[in-house]
Amino acid sequence: MRTKQDYINGLSRMKRNVYFNGERIDRTDELQMACLNTIGTTYDEAEKPENRELCTAISHLTGERINRFNHIHQNTDDLHNKQDMTRMLCQKVGGCIQRCMGIDATNAIYNVSFEADKMNKGETRYHENFKKWLTRFQTEDLVGCAAQTDVKGDRMLRPAEQPDPGAYVHIKERLKDGIVVEGCKLHISEASVADEVLVIPTRALRKEDKDYAVAFAVPGDWDGLKQVVTIHNLRRREHYQRGFMQGATDSYMIFDNCFVPWDRVFLAGEHQHGGILALLFALFHRHSYSGCKPAIGDIILGTAALAAEVNNVHKASHIREKLAEIIMTTELGYAAGYTASDLGKPEVYIPGLGFCPYGPGSYIPHSIYCNVGRCLSGEAVYREGEMLCDIAGGVVATFPHERDFANPETGDLLLKYTKRNPDMPVEDQAQFWRYLGDILCSATGGIANVGNYHGGGSPIMEQIAITTQYDIESRKKLVRYIAGMSGGDRDALAKKK
Ligand SMILES: Cc1cc2nc3c(=O)[nH]c(=O)nc-3n(C[C@H](O)[C@H](O)[C@H](O)COP(=O)(O)OP(=O)(O)OC[C@H]3O[C@@H](n4cnc5c(N)ncnc54)[C@H](O)[C@@H]3O)c2cc1C
Repeated sequence: MRTKQDYINGLSRMKRNVYFNGERIDRTDELQMACLNTIGTTYDEAEKPENRELCTAISHLTGERINRFNHIHQNTDDLHNKQDMTRMLCQKVGGCIQRCMGIDATNAIYNVSFEADKMNKGETRYHENFKKWLTRFQTEDLVGCAAQTDVKGDRMLRPAEQPDPGAYVHIKERLKDGIVVEGCKLHISEASVADEVLVIPTRALRKEDKDYAVAFAVPGDWDGLKQVVTIHNLRRREHYQRGFMQGATDSYMIFDNCFVPWDRVFLAGEHQHGGILALLFALFHRHSYSGCKPAIGDIILGTAALAAEVNNVHKASHIREKLAEIIMTTELGYAAGYTASDLGKPEVYIPGLGFCPYGPGSYIPHSIYCNVGRCLSGEAVYREGEMLCDIAGGVVATFPHERDFANPETGDLLLKYTKRNPDMPVEDQAQFWRYLGDILCSATGGIANVGNYHGGGSPIMEQIAITTQYDIESRKKLVRYIAGMSGGDRDALAKKK
């Protein structure tokens, strides 16, 4: 397995195709270092003997020990460990750990490439190609990102109906030795610091959309690929450093006549499987949220409790109510993910058919619980922000800049007027407001909230998944029976077990 430094060294050798604010930048540009340190934590923690079980796994392809972020889930323990690893690592960096897109996309493609080959009765080699790619991905301990979201143009038109075919990434040309793709994926987290980019479809597809049913992997600096990146760093500190400085990036990934050789193509035209791949990645990713959102809940809870303590209002009853609400959302999100792991099987939900055996036997978390957990905790983001705002009061919005605390003319006066709780050192109180300003009142804090709300699919997507997959009809029959209506069935649900 690699070290964090090996990972950074690898990025420094990549071609310069990352654009930021009008300039081309190196992947290891100072601006991206907070992000590299965040992902670097996944390497540092995997090296520690006490994290061996949680952060590493044995590859089913090579029998070698690998980073868990590159593993294909072989049983329910793997699903539990992925959830717990995600929560633990997100706690350590105080937010998103940013390596989950790779594990979620690889697990989805692993299954779908197998099923597509099965349908094609051996005429395609998607799964073998993918396993070959995966073996290198695991052995070299690479970081992957998932490029799913297309620009989508007019939301009311399907891919093949769009006036500009580039609204969705698609196959422009089929050649003897590969395909040429075109289009743009956007909001792609950590693409500018990933070794490999996994491209997958974004939605259900019809026969007419077959050219949009495309999945492949290319290095992040591949010919024909440009990345325009936004970099999200917290305010720089000169005098009063944070314990950990988190960072993130998101890219517009523009594929312009980009050639992809067949051995890197894992789906090319099978529209039914394109839609399943879109859903399956979302499912694995929503399962990851049941690890990261509880960690963010842990951070929000600690922040809310400390804000109350700094203000010396921590014994007030409305604080208890708010802390309880944060804990309930956090642990319900975790419990949903835990159940999804526990009920995991090599099965997927196929509309009209229900849960069906799927893929070569790797484990897929239970769909209902993944969607319930992600929707519940995703929608809570702004409510949690509201509670932090309420407990903090206005101080967090107008807290003076750090140089005014370092300036002998104003520093002592500002500390005098910062003091609230007599039992807490005033320097800690000032440091707390700087931290809370970072997450509640900064551009980066706002971006994180939008990501936590929409990432993995907007809440409406989870609601659609839940209501189409949940057996509402049997519940209606049960109530018909209890109410004494016609067509009732007391055992409607028992029969489903
Ligand atoms: C910080 C951040 C990081 C992200 N990281 C990644 C990543 O790493 N990889 C990745 O692939 N994606 C990523 N995403 C994308 C994320 O998954 C999408 O934002 C999400 O799926 C919503 O899609 P959208 O942004 O295109 O919104 P839209 O789909 O444009 O949604 C906007 C609104 O329009 C509604 N709407 C859209 N279409 C219809 C329709 N046909 N009918 C009725 N209503 C409609 C929606 O319900 C919503 O209310 C990230 C997003 C953010 C903000």
